Amino acid sequence: MWSYQHQRFTVHQLAALADNYIYLIDTGAALACVDPAEAAPVISACAELARPLTHILNTHHHWDHTGGNLELKTRFGCTIVGAAHDAARIPGIDKKISEGDDLQLDKQHVSVLDIPGHTSGHIAFVLAGEKNNALFCGDTLFGAGCGRLFEGTPEQMWQSLEKLIRLDTENKTDTDFYCAHEYTLSNLEFCLKKVSKHTPVNEYYAWSLTRRNKQLPTIPGTLKREIQCNPMLLPAQADFCKTYAAEHTIADDAVSVFTHIREARNHW
Ligand SMILES: [Zn+2]
Repeated sequence: MWSYQHQRFTVHQLAALADNYIYLIDTGAALACVDPAEAAPVISACAELARPLTHILNTHHHWDHTGGNLELKTRFGCTIVGAAHDAARIPGIDKKISEGDDLQLDKQHVSVLDIPGHTSGHIAFVLAGEKNNALFCGDTLFGAGCGRLFEGTPEQMWQSLEKLIRLDTENKTDTDFYCAHEYTLSNLEFCLKKVSKHTPVNEYYAWSLTRRNKQLPTIPGTLKREIQCNPMLLPAQADFCKTYAAEHTIADDAVSVFTHIREARNHW
């Protein structure tokens, strides 16, 4: 278990399954689990913290994000929060939410964003902090990558990614992102071979390699670094789009460039 201190809450990170991360948001009175892939690591963490689980927050319906829902609900009687758009596929859901809805964890306000693309009902949770905001983005944004488009169009996914970019560009406060898988290193290998070799990507790769060699997570990361290095976010930069589009003889708008890079990653 790794722990990260924000001003009014702490995030605990648990490794699960092959490469999943489960998070516990600890506000003092509330202890909320984001995307319990399985129940066992959460039960152990609650025992270690000597605290009961009060909430489960699901970003989307996939089994490796909701697999622990029912066992944890039976054990702790916790409240399960998930996307209203996808309520039928979230096991044990109690509170159905979508963008703009109010969610409180104890005294901590949680904003909800609709970010479809990976699945049709994917949502994100944002907790504002004085120094660093925390974004829980499930399988939409990864370290140097993004989720596959199982149920959405490239246009939808691109709009969702732009929404996450704006969390950084329209806020004075930096945002740390907590995604649900450790894919950073292979995503960066793809980026270096197929998309961009610029210095920040090389530095991100060297840092990630050191972390992984020590069996440490590369997550959480910052949205700032993703905007600079993530091949799925680079299409937000017009100059990058022009260069990439010319190299691949495609249209140079952001959606066309994003679609091409996402396709290339699917077949890499
Ligand atoms: Zn998923």
